[in-house]
Amino acid sequence: MSDPINNQVATELSENGQTQATQTPSFADIYHSSINDREQFWAEQAKRIYWHKEPEQILDDSNLPFAKWFVGGETNLCYNCVDRHLPDRAEQDAFIWLSSEINQELIETFPTVADAFSNLGNNVEFYTDYTKRRLTYNDLYKEVNYFADVLQRHGVGEGDRVIIYMPMILEAAYAMLACARIGAIHSVVFGGFAAHNLAIRMDDAEAKMVITVDAGLRGGKVINYKNLVNQGVEQATAKPEHVLVVDRGILPFAAQAIDIDYATERRISCEANAIVEPVWLESNTPSYLLYTSGTTGTPKGVQRDTGGHAVALTTSMDYIYNGKAGETFWAISDIGWAVGHSYTIYAPLLAGMTSVMYEGLPHRPNPGIWWRIVEANKVNILFTAPTGVRMLKKQDETWMTRYDVSSLKSFFLAGEPLDQSTADWLKKHLGVPILDHYWQTESGWPILSNTPKFDDKPHKQGSPGYPMYGYDAHVINEKTGERCAAGEKGLLAITAPLPPGCLTTVWRNDERFISSYFSLADGNEYSTSDYAVTDEDGCFYILGRTDDVINVAGHRIGTQEIEEAISTHPEMAECAVVGIHDELKGELPIAFCVLRDHTQVATTENRFRLEQQIIGAVVKSLGGIARPAAVYFPQSVPKTRSGKILRRAIRALAENKPTGDMSTLDNPAAIDAIKQSMKDY
Ligand code: AMP
Repeated sequence: MSDPINNQVATELSENGQTQATQTPSFADIYHSSINDREQFWAEQAKRIYWHKEPEQILDDSNLPFAKWFVGGETNLCYNCVDRHLPDRAEQDAFIWLSSEINQELIETFPTVADAFSNLGNNVEFYTDYTKRRLTYNDLYKEVNYFADVLQRHGVGEGDRVIIYMPMILEAAYAMLACARIGAIHSVVFGGFAAHNLAIRMDDAEAKMVITVDAGLRGGKVINYKNLVNQGVEQATAKPEHVLVVDRGILPFAAQAIDIDYATERRISCEANAIVEPVWLESNTPSYLLYTSGTTGTPKGVQRDTGGHAVALTTSMDYIYNGKAGETFWAISDIGWAVGHSYTIYAPLLAGMTSVMYEGLPHRPNPGIWWRIVEANKVNILFTAPTGVRMLKKQDETWMTRYDVSSLKSFFLAGEPLDQSTADWLKKHLGVPILDHYWQTESGWPILSNTPKFDDKPHKQGSPGYPMYGYDAHVINEKTGERCAAGEKGLLAITAPLPPGCLTTVWRNDERFISSYFSLADGNEYSTSDYAVTDEDGCFYILGRTDDVINVAGHRIGTQEIEEAISTHPEMAECAVVGIHDELKGELPIAFCVLRDHTQVATTENRFRLEQQIIGAVVKSLGGIARPAAVYFPQSVPKTRSGKILRRAIRALAENKPTGDMSTLDNPAAIDAIKQSMKDY
């Protein structure tokens, strides 16, 4: 059967002479043309999406590092994700939503949950272990139009910021796509974050609306989203005009004056058969903000454009993931992270695929749930962070053989280093390529990857691959900016311009964009803040962060954010948080707290009380994800003469490793203080 999306790319690329009709080009050719013939390369890729108005200029690099892609072109992300597929795949599933948190038993206990489903649409099937909701492209088109209509009727329009604080439910996807449809800028906040994080983002984005739910479920535990939003609104200086609540029937709540009930509003839009025309946006118009941790306490609003984002993701689905229209893609991530944005929502839809959206944990109701989902939904491509796999690896292995996973073509992993034993274990059980790849919130799509479509470079264990087309990536000497030879450790950097789809700036803070990312050498190199090394074949190996950012289960957390939360404790003089290696989650934060009065921890009882208070302060401020795995009470922390805390030395001490160069240490007694505090524990 003819397939316009799959055929379109093959034909268009071959017309341009880049590829032969019968033969796939080598990746080396593609990479070479993307760097040496940049504009020509991206002009070709731009044909993968629909432009209401064709771009006038492919790249404006007159003001680097601020690159502008597809200048003058007008498009709409939502149109490309949804409307464009209606002629050919209206009845194909756009999303398959699965929740292992909601099952038959839960529905019997809470009939309000089933009522809520019928208020929000249909096509729901309840099973003993999970609930499934299917949504065709046609259904998605309708729902997104209703949602966009609700937003517009409540005053949200082009350029307005909307915070989405929701669990993994379809309404979150409608909300994102509806914002894109009307040109509103969404900012999704990870559901594991607490009220304080929400307030910071409300203030920085000056959000007009917050979209949330009554509650979420995690491992059967109810998470009171609505209450957290209420607290966030209370703490924020820039308060939203409205809070739109999708009531899932899980937790009753008292509506506030600014609240709007989504089910009621949806009914109005549905009865009116509301259709909202997509707003055509110049390619460089911001599509969304996603806040991420850096070295300072305030998160950065990574700003993504519209046209470059659509082109980059569509291209990646072909060249990197080898995904085809009609196939099923499952990125096991939360929409609060970049992976969820790019590969649960936008990219699969842009490519006309079916995307699986999963609310639940890897090992509940049992450690076979992922594979049951793969079998039942014929998932073709999987993508997740190694932590989830490591969790499964600890369980009974027979769960790995109970389901037919032969639909799988490949399994991609990213977000943190992929250790050999996890990769081997997956390979043994699934028998498909296990592909590590590397990217960041800022890039929005892979910087380094292996590419099953081309396969002209060997996959090497321990390496996330080689630079992807468009990324002029290399390892440089941190101080001189000179390129390192193979085998020489340095900083992973990308020469400007960054390719389409990468962050275009930090929201309302061009200076921070430069100081955070382009302060090296001649100002032309993007710093990933990761150390790396290459081998003779040009494969890259990631060696860890250069800054005080730690990676817990694939999620980036600035240690300074945790320190700030701890410092709110009235008895705290100062503190240092470092990440230590953890078998399961990669890294975990531990805190070294210096009290105003050290005698406070003279008794075990008091120490326990303080420890609980400190952990409580972190969880309250940042959410459970930042919970310190241990709290120690040294009398001092090691510092340099200029007063900087030597976190690297503390980390080494905590991991029982050599501390390295200590020539800048000002207070040698602090070394023993750190060691003693861990003994006291
Ligand atoms: P985030 O922006 O939260 O996705 O975090 C990006 C950071 O995660 C990178 O800067 C790396 O430190 C780390 N990271 C991402 N992918 C990989 C990978 N494949 N191998 C090693 N580290 C990775």
